[in-house]
Amino acid sequence: MIIILKKNATPEQIEKLTSDIHALGVSIHKIEGEHTTVFGLVGDTSRINANDLSANEAVEAIHRVQEPYKMANRKFHPENTVIQVGEASFGGDEFPVIAGPCSVESEEQIIEVARAVKASGAKLLRGGAFKPRTSPYAFQGLHEEGIRLLTLAKQDTGLPIVTEIMSIGQLDLFADVDVIQVGARNMQNFELLKALGGTGKPILLKRGLANTLEELLMSAEYIMSAGNEKVILCERGIRTFETATRNTMDLSAIPMLKSMSHLPVIADPSHATGIAWMVEPMARASAAVGADGLIIEVHNNPARALSDGKQSITPAAFDALMKELRPYVELTGKQI
Ligand code: PEP
Ligand code: MN
Repeated sequence: MIIILKKNATPEQIEKLTSDIHALGVSIHKIEGEHTTVFGLVGDTSRINANDLSANEAVEAIHRVQEPYKMANRKFHPENTVIQVGEASFGGDEFPVIAGPCSVESEEQIIEVARAVKASGAKLLRGGAFKPRTSPYAFQGLHEEGIRLLTLAKQDTGLPIVTEIMSIGQLDLFADVDVIQVGARNMQNFELLKALGGTGKPILLKRGLANTLEELLMSAEYIMSAGNEKVILCERGIRTFETATRNTMDLSAIPMLKSMSHLPVIADPSHATGIAWMVEPMARASAAVGADGLIIEVHNNPARALSDGKQSITPAAFDALMKELRPYVELTGKQI
């Protein structure tokens, strides 16, 4: 529910409205625009009678928000949310690219890749330390050591680091991590999402393998309603009947999410396709349909990668991709 306040509402009238709303057991998300103040009501508003509230003198109009996501809803926050991470900003006029290996494997590997992707224009370094693998016998990541190696690469290059968390118990290890990734398999790990709401760190929330956009936004809502509004959404492909690609990249999710929500939306063409040569064309397409950035897997020796080698591109291919991207990014008025 959205309440638009009258321009000339007095502080007393607003105070009265505020306490009436709180008495109904919902909280207020205040949005101060240039010309109007809007109260977004957060919580279970289904039993609230709009007529009762419209009797308050501060109220200009009341609109019901049909969607179950409130804080993530563009109706609550018409402007794009811009999330700053180091020198990069997501959701504004820039197009930051996150790049790095699927998994952190060794100091040499992560430093070499970090230096290369930085030289090509990446703004953040990715690398998995805790890996969600289909097989328990597959490489599970270097865990704490992986995070330590990422922080070395950060010191070396100055690039902020992005890495995936798989359980609440790992949170203490993420103190020096700049962006915490919630992977596709944990998109609906609600207890984890609530805990991330208390961190204040930007969260990269990837779409689940078989989740709707509304479900993705409800997961963002978990993080936001727990106190952290810095959520970056990521389209990374969904499971369909098609088997030629690892997943089916739902490009239409990008403009649709941008219309449903004010949160930044980035694309992951690596996991979406699972095929190295497809990363570049799908990266271009993502930029053209309005993505706010990309996350791309880059490995210095893809054939030897301990995870996701088939979809990893070399530093040279990444450099070429970054050069190709510019006109597509500029199509939507952004800069790279
Ligand atoms: C990853 O980023 O390496 C990863 C496991 O991603 P996703 O959760 O999208 O599969
Ligand atoms: Mn991967």
